[in-house]
Amino acid sequence: MAVANTECNIKVLCRFRPLNQSEIIRGDKFIPTFQGDDTGRSYAFDRVFPTNSTQEQVYDTCAKQIVKDVLGGYNGTIFAYGQTSSGKTHTMEVVKIHLLIFFISEKPSGTWWSFHAMPLASLCLFQGRLHDPQGMGIIPRIAEDIFKHIFAMDENLEFHIKVSYFEIYMDKIRDLLDVTKTNLSVHEDKHRVPYVKGCTERFVTSPEEVMDVIDQGKSNRHVAVTNMNEHSSRSHSIFLINIKQEHVETEQKICGKLYLVDLAGSEKVSKTGAEGAVLDEAKNINRSLSALGNVISALAEGTKTHVPYRDSKMTRILQDSLGGNCRTTMFICCSPSSYNDVETKSTLMFGQRAK
Ligand code: ADP
Ligand code: MG
Repeated sequence: MAVANTECNIKVLCRFRPLNQSEIIRGDKFIPTFQGDDTGRSYAFDRVFPTNSTQEQVYDTCAKQIVKDVLGGYNGTIFAYGQTSSGKTHTMEVVKIHLLIFFISEKPSGTWWSFHAMPLASLCLFQGRLHDPQGMGIIPRIAEDIFKHIFAMDENLEFHIKVSYFEIYMDKIRDLLDVTKTNLSVHEDKHRVPYVKGCTERFVTSPEEVMDVIDQGKSNRHVAVTNMNEHSSRSHSIFLINIKQEHVETEQKICGKLYLVDLAGSEKVSKTGAEGAVLDEAKNINRSLSALGNVISALAEGTKTHVPYRDSKMTRILQDSLGGNCRTTMFICCSPSSYNDVETKSTLMFGQRAK
């Protein structure tokens, strides 16, 4: 793995998570080597994060600038791509720490101990909610940063920030803030800017409100599905932050928006030997991820006159926030385990196409 040094509005960043407990127990090998000790095939990205990189390092090097740019009137998109369990959600979202507090009480016989576990989202208070601040991924850090910048800006600027949260599953757009909206469509406004018609928009005035919206969306997502982990790995979730600012005297307006996308798992279906509905899902995911890959690589090449935005709903929605003047960042999330070797190579290849 090496660092590419091209200046381009599409940044591709690669992040490896550490080996997890079950991989260690199984005796999996740690496969990646980082700059300097390459022996096998090498891939170059704008930045490679080894397993011990912190959430703060990832945010500071990759997303902080995008927040400033969006406040300056640019559009942007940050994606997380990778197989299930490669660290996409860890990179994008807030990580809640669940501490198990054990109350130990002695039974009357005095020979047995009984344990009562009480799950507590804990560690420390963040904006009135319980989160581990160091574990915070990109979205909550962006939420904090936006309001930090706004409070430091010209008092004559008036801000209107609204957010939407939806997912794309089997090519259907489902509003995560209103469970009754299960099949929304993509339209274009009078300036030919695509948008999801009828999608709920919430005005927010603090980072806490942003996180409330996310929590609400997540719990709606839970309600509608039986197995949340499986479902979340098969749908793309998209969080949109829209920022409009207006100067109270000059009435000059600046608009910028940022899409934060946690993509469906990129794993090939053959590994699980799927059939029927699961196979349809897999084909659908594959199609939408390829459409995204084609758009990103056409944009990265920069010479193509035709960028195939219309090939999928997701790329249509993101059309005015990808490439060109927009800030696009793709996280390529990888498992370091030898067990996932084939998937990791295919993930790295996907990232490579965008360079
Ligand atoms: P995905 O969203 O790609 O399916 P997750 O983000 O849920 O994967 O990550 C799977 C597991 O690995 C989670 O338990 C997560 O906490 C852990 N994990 C992922 N990335 C890291 C990392 N960089 N450092 C530590 N743990 C991680
Ligand atoms: Mg996930």
